[in-house]
Amino acid sequence: MTAPTRTAPVLAPRSSAELIQAEGPVLAHNYHPLPVVVARAEGVWVEDVEGHRYLDMLAGYSALNFGHRHPALIEAAHRQLDQLTLTSRAFHNDRLAGFAEGLAELTGLDMVLPMNTGAEAVESGIKVARKWAYDVKGVPADRATIVVAGGNFHGRTTTIVGFSDDDDARVGFGPFAPGFRTVPYNDLAALEAALDETTAAVLIEPIQGEAGVLIPDDGYLTGVRELTRRNGCLFIADEIQSGLGRTGKTLAVEHESVVPDVLLLGKALGGGIVPVSAVVARREVLGVIGPGQHGSTFGGNPLAAAVGSAVIELLATGEFQRRATELGAQLRTGLAALTGKGVTGFRARGLWAGVDIDPALGTGREISERLMKEGILVKDTHGSTIRLAPPLTITAEELDTALNSLARVLI
Ligand SMILES: *Cc1c(COP(=O)(O)O)cnc(C)c1O
Repeated sequence: MTAPTRTAPVLAPRSSAELIQAEGPVLAHNYHPLPVVVARAEGVWVEDVEGHRYLDMLAGYSALNFGHRHPALIEAAHRQLDQLTLTSRAFHNDRLAGFAEGLAELTGLDMVLPMNTGAEAVESGIKVARKWAYDVKGVPADRATIVVAGGNFHGRTTTIVGFSDDDDARVGFGPFAPGFRTVPYNDLAALEAALDETTAAVLIEPIQGEAGVLIPDDGYLTGVRELTRRNGCLFIADEIQSGLGRTGKTLAVEHESVVPDVLLLGKALGGGIVPVSAVVARREVLGVIGPGQHGSTFGGNPLAAAVGSAVIELLATGEFQRRATELGAQLRTGLAALTGKGVTGFRARGLWAGVDIDPALGTGREISERLMKEGILVKDTHGSTIRLAPPLTITAEELDTALNSLARVLI
């Protein structure tokens, strides 16, 4: 029997349309991307295969807070590529101590558990909270509960999607891990009622990004802090999307001067270059994990630590937080001017907005496609809501360009 003949790989450069078509049979269909094939990028601008330029108003869901290929981050990565890229945690590496010190200093917390993706940071936070509940709070074995909020997005692992209320994310992937209770977001009375002697932690996003940039009422985060303290359970803040400058502060919890027990970071921590995430916590909490109880082959690798350290240095200047605040005011003014002219409402903090479009004008997807034709890349969330989250390096003129395009598309 002869081996099946296979067509030789196509070596000639392929057009955007050819590349999109080629993906169909070979790439899992777990995304429905806009029909743009990006080949190069710098700062806030990306360029497709044919050389068309687009303003990136999504910034990799905030993984690109510093823009594409920020010079300081690229330089740190290049330097590290020439020295050492991976050791595993079987050995120490010379970049990890500085990364952990920098992250502790930046967040005001004590200890760091380095991981790679956001979902891994969430999973790790759940493990740490359960271990803490058994070792410190004295919850009977296997009885620990974690309280989460409706409308949450914490990632895609089987444990995490099990406590999602988004049917697309959850249905068909059970059975799910027990031990989670869901309460409505932004509802302190419901949260209080859900806390008991089995509660290990409350896990929430200080602002719900995927849900459409839902900002809780002033006082909600303070209330979560007070209720968790009174109950004797942990407050875990998932700042994977809201953190690292996006809202005008290093952390979104700073808007209420709240310090959680456990902080989950990811996305922008990798500078848009490598996946880097972390659980950052008080020493009494993260200290419960001992050798062999948790790990990751790639977590804390020297390349990730070098890029993460360079990200921390950028944030330590305060420049990006300041830009997010100042340009965020411009974004809100622009969106307010469009309200009633195709925009039915919006929620914004810093350089981050969920914009509800009049459904009569099209779905969020259709609006995104029309904006793409104007040279602006955005992503819809649910229904007729689009999310704006440009790199924090965007200029006032570029932001105006995006707002003017939105106005044109809505006419
Ligand atoms: C993106 C995101 C995650 C998951 O991060 P991945 O790197 O995609 O696994 C978790 N929580 C929040 C709030 C996020 O925005």
